[in-house]
Amino acid sequence: MTFYLSYAILFSVIKDFFKYFIDLVYPQNCSLCKNYTRSRSSKDFLCPECRSKIKLNVPRFCPKCSRNMKHSSSALCENCADNEIFFDFAWCCLSYEEPLRTLLHNFKYHHQLFLKHEFLRLMTTFLERHNLDIKQFELIIPIPLHPAKMRERGFNQSQILGQMISEKYQIPICNTAIIRTRNTQTQTNFDQKERWTNIQGAFRIKHSEVIKLKNILIIDDLLTTGATVSEAAKTLKQAGAATVGVLTLAIVNRNM
Ligand SMILES: [Zn+2]
Ligand SMILES: [Zn+2]
Repeated sequence: MTFYLSYAILFSVIKDFFKYFIDLVYPQNCSLCKNYTRSRSSKDFLCPECRSKIKLNVPRFCPKCSRNMKHSSSALCENCADNEIFFDFAWCCLSYEEPLRTLLHNFKYHHQLFLKHEFLRLMTTFLERHNLDIKQFELIIPIPLHPAKMRERGFNQSQILGQMISEKYQIPICNTAIIRTRNTQTQTNFDQKERWTNIQGAFRIKHSEVIKLKNILIIDDLLTTGATVSEAAKTLKQAGAATVGVLTLAIVNRNM
């Protein structure tokens, strides 16, 4: 009897041990509200309630950066009207507000990389809803991190998003064509105007042969003013890129 009991305890300890490691990679609870949510085989990391609170970016869009302009009658959003924008157009899938802010923060700073599956699903929904022709692009280029930041974080969130989009739509990806030469202070510390000067000259082309005459899709996690992606687009165009589009997970929609 004692013999069988100790086996049962041992089995339960081993089971808990494995469950702990599996939960690190494939958590079974909603990553926001922590309620039990799903079977392990599906890649659901949010419960339906939390998922329903994430807001897709909706029209009326700024034709340049796709910022929501429902409270404005101007042709372009204030940001695109006041600055020289070097990308041809940007598609930003989600509105950067809660609960997405928390999710993106957890993805970037708490290593919750499993959230990439949720992000891909949401980005795909946005692209399909608006019939956006992503196949026009011949090459995906994620916004690079400076090597020092890459070492600190251990991964580049834009590369992770870019890799999934590349696989989903069968578009080649290149992570080495453009590099970040200045470890700029994070753009969050600057006001709108300073963001445009802080980023100038931050990128350099390493392999112009893969860029020349290509229709390129830049991928980033978040568009705030668009200064970072515009500077990258400027650098790519100087190296001979044809069209430069931008795809981001989210955009800061003010006045919403
Ligand atoms: Zn939840
Ligand atoms: Zn705009």
